[in-house]
Parts: sequence; structure tokens; C-alpha cells
Amino acid sequence: MDDRKVYIVRCGEVALKGLNKPYFERMLVERIKKMLKKYDHVEVKRHEGLIFVRADQKIPAEEIIGQISKVFGVASISPAVEVESDIDRIGEAAVEYMLKLIEEKGIHTFKVEAKRADKTFPIQSPDIGKIIGGKVLIGCKVLKVDVHHPDCLLFVDVRRDQSYIYEQKISGFGGLPLGTNGKGLILLSGGIDSPVAAWMMAKRGMLIEAIHFHSYPYTSERAQEKVEELASIVASYCGRFKMHVINLLPIQEEIVQHCPEEETTILVRRFMMRIAERIAQEKDCTMLITGENLGQVASQTAEALVVTDASVKMPVMRPLIAMDKVDIMDKAKEIGTFETSIQPYEDCCTVFLPKHPTTKPKLDKILNSESRLDAEGLINAAVESTKTITIYPRD
Ligand code: ATP
Ligand code: MG
Repeated sequence: MDDRKVYIVRCGEVALKGLNKPYFERMLVERIKKMLKKYDHVEVKRHEGLIFVRADQKIPAEEIIGQISKVFGVASISPAVEVESDIDRIGEAAVEYMLKLIEEKGIHTFKVEAKRADKTFPIQSPDIGKIIGGKVLIGCKVLKVDVHHPDCLLFVDVRRDQSYIYEQKISGFGGLPLGTNGKGLILLSGGIDSPVAAWMMAKRGMLIEAIHFHSYPYTSERAQEKVEELASIVASYCGRFKMHVINLLPIQEEIVQHCPEEETTILVRRFMMRIAERIAQEKDCTMLITGENLGQVASQTAEALVVTDASVKMPVMRPLIAMDKVDIMDKAKEIGTFETSIQPYEDCCTVFLPKHPTTKPKLDKILNSESRLDAEGLINAAVESTKTITIYPRD
């Protein structure tokens, strides 16, 4: 007898994948296994369109659920009781289950939601509901049925060999399993936006590597630690990844010395993009990702984004482009990056910030300013100075 606790995991969009469904399901199983690998004796198996996770009873259910719900592609999770598909056995298990719930949660009313996935089971769904409901009423004298607002919705899922009893469907984030959609390089700052942007692309199945620019000694070591901390929160969803760290100060100094002050920010951003593109190519990333957001600051006006984009050939993903800042902040709170993001540390972009940055840059004018610099030489030197660190998931 397997006395491990069972968790039913439902796939979201993965279930809509037609012929590719087995591939996506396999990837999802792999991701769940990876997320739970720190626990012994965990089993993750696909069965009849669902994923069943079995884990030691001793591991708190919240811990297992917390981990599984971070796996992209998971729509919902239910900790369940597994019982032989026999109506009497299901009835006994339902009574036992409800007695425990009465004790733990003080429920008074319930409603049974029965489903027969195994059409050869001799009793139809509505009748299963009635029979189990009747047994629970007899077995748990304090309970009444309330079909409109029950304290507990008792799900009974009858399958071929085993049936399942549960009351909760805990939502996951949905999305697609990591590794099903290429690899992108996120330009990661210490702000609110870029960690959310990384998370959103990872949620669509994209593997992530990161690049971070600093201006040491103008930016502090503590500022970089903050970025590493943010990265490790992102890694708690998408597993460990590499972060490439580059000092942008030599380039910023050249720009400040040779180019008009109001163009500093946009010029710096074009260099960032080109360096990122070079690193991306080296690391087999096919896209750049930024936390840019239309109209947020001078360098993110429509005109500025066009001039920034013109610096690279690689596609630039901007998953936050049309979101409102409050919604980005809410997302940051939901995924757990917000509190770290708002710690006040300087960013390389705030070093040499012009008083009146241009909001409507013209590409020909920007190119003209850039021609005063040895762009290729500066980019090569920056790429060569790259330091790469590994970011590990934060528990
Ligand atoms: P965030 O957008 O992360 O909140 P921010 O708003 O301060 O930070 P912006 O100046 O708006 O950053 O920069 C826009 C985008 O450029 C960021 O979302 C990020 O993708 C990238 N970026 C900015 N600064 C850096 C940096 N120091 N290193 C890497 N990427 C950066
Ligand atoms: Mg921003």
C-alpha cells in the first residue's frame, strides 16, 4: 500500500496542444520533478490527461503545493485522497475526509460534485453525487447540504482503478513548461520592471539568461547584490541560470565626454542593447528581453524605442510594453520581487542622468553623435570584460 500523499496537477494550455500534447506533458512532468528533487521518494506520473504527484505524508502539503504552483504550465493543484473505485469504499473515504474537515475547518455545509471519468463505472455522475452525499450525511451528523453556498465543495472524481476525493483547486500560474520556447537574454536591472519581464517570458516556456550592467565604483557592490537577489527570486520559478555582468562605466564616460548631454541616456541604451546582442549570440539566446514600457520614461517614448531598436538586429521582446505601472507593481508583488526592487540602490542608468533627456530622438542625429565614438572597440572591450555568475533559486 502506497501511503504517500497524492496531489492531482492539472495542465492549463498544455491540454490544448493537439498533436504536440504528449511533448508538452512530458516537459511539464520533467519540470515538476526538477522542482521537487530536493525531496526523497517523490513520484510524478502522467495518467489520463492529469499529472499525479505522490510525496511523503511527512512533507507539509503547503510546501509541495507551493513548489508545484511555481511550475509554469500548471493550471491547478488538488491535494487528494486516493481510494479504490468502489462506491462503498468511496463513501467510507468521503466520510472520513469530511470528519477531518469538520475538525480542522469547522465546516457546516457541503455539496458533492461528482464526475465519472471512467464511463464503464456502473453508476452515473449525478447518482454518485447522491449516494456519496447520503453517506456523508449519515456519517457526519453535523453536516447539511447547501447547493448554493456550501462551506465545502466535495469533489469526487471516479477513474478506472482509483478514485479521488478532494475539496480544493489551488491555482497555478498557467503558461507553458520551461524549455518549450527557446532561450532569451533578459536585460536585468534592479528595478521593478525587468524581473517581471523575465518572469513573464519564462512563463511562456522561454529559458532565461540575464545580463546586468553596472557602473562600479559609481554603483555599489550592494546594488549588484540586490540584482542578484532579484535574479534568484526569478530563478525560484525557472531554475538556476547564468547572469553576465558588465561594467558600463568606460562607455558612459566616453559618451559624456563626446556627445550632447540630452542624448546620453538613449546612447547608453543603444550600447547596452548591442552588448546584450553580442552576449546573446554567444550564448545561443535568440531574443533580447527588456522591462521597457511605453511612455514610462524619456527613453521609452515611441520615438526612443524605435531608435533603441535600430541598434540591434535581434528581436527585442518587451512583455510589459502596454501594461500600466500599477499592474506591473501588482505582478511584482505577486511573484515576490517587489520588496527587493524598491530598496533604494543606484542603477547604472541613473549615473550621468541628463537634466533634460531627449524624448523624441532622431536616428540620424543619434548616429551622427555615435560616429564620434569607437563604438566597435568599446563594445568589444565591454564584451571581453564580462564576468559570468550562476544564479541559484532562492528557497
Ligand atoms: P526596471 O525597468 O527594471 O524597473 P528601470 O525602470 O529603472 O528598471 P529603465 O531605466 O526603465 O529601468 O530601463 C528599461 C529597461 O532597460 C529595464 O527594464 C531593463 O530591461 C533594462 N535596463 C536598465 N538598466 C539596466 C541595467 N543596469 N542592466 C541591465 N539592463 C538594464
Ligand atoms: Mg522601467
